[in-house]
Amino acid sequence: MGKEIMIAVYILAGVLGLCIGSFLNVVIYRLPLNMSLSKPASHCTKCDYVLKWYDNIPVLSYIILGGKCRKCKKKISPRYMLVELFTAIMYLLSVYLFWDKSIVYAVLSALTSSVLVCIFFIDLEHMIILDRFQIILLVFGVVAIFFDSATVWYDHLIGLGGGVVFLLIYYGAILMLKKEGLGFGDVKLAFVTGLFLGWQKFLLSMLIASLSALIVLIPRRFSKKEKQKEFPFAPFITLGVLVAMLVGNYIINWYIGILGL
Ligand SMILES: [Zn+2]
Repeated sequence: MGKEIMIAVYILAGVLGLCIGSFLNVVIYRLPLNMSLSKPASHCTKCDYVLKWYDNIPVLSYIILGGKCRKCKKKISPRYMLVELFTAIMYLLSVYLFWDKSIVYAVLSALTSSVLVCIFFIDLEHMIILDRFQIILLVFGVVAIFFDSATVWYDHLIGLGGGVVFLLIYYGAILMLKKEGLGFGDVKLAFVTGLFLGWQKFLLSMLIASLSALIVLIPRRFSKKEKQKEFPFAPFITLGVLVAMLVGNYIINWYIGILGL
């Protein structure tokens, strides 16, 4: 593809990422509260000031307003800007990594990252994974079977085994510990991401999820107050899935190289 066209694709991906990131902020805030996504218009959650178009420009408005509401000057969570920036970076990376192999998979990777960002923040705050995100990921998983040039179709189907392992852990914990070791939402998430990634990248994603969970949760063990608190696991899964989706093939090939296979 011509150089000019690729530059246009990158600019489009970056701008689209910023705008979709802005929309994801609305989704993350409103969906778990069962609020409509379109009404009311975006407003300050503290003083109800309705944002004008120039208060709503991704990243820029946040910087210009110094992270504060124009009217009441209360602080706005930096999460809004972070989600916008992160989404734009994910869209650029998806184009960079996959566009030349499969345009469909590049788009799929960008869209999947958006769903994962929503799951990450909603589970972190509300300890739930909404089923509608699981269904979207399931559809993406089916599309990935046909367009993931690095993983053959049956490796995607074997990836469903990841969900089976999670299901066994789920019922095992109930039988032996008489309580849920992990949420059933995590089980469903393992099924759909296993299908999406294929079993090799799914294993990698679980390794990353477990390691990052250890790093975050071990220090909390030493704090009495934090110890009792339940901690959601899906943010770690989504982190693992994101890394595995983007650079999993490189990591796996590098590892196979070390083993001399
Ligand atoms: Zn305000």
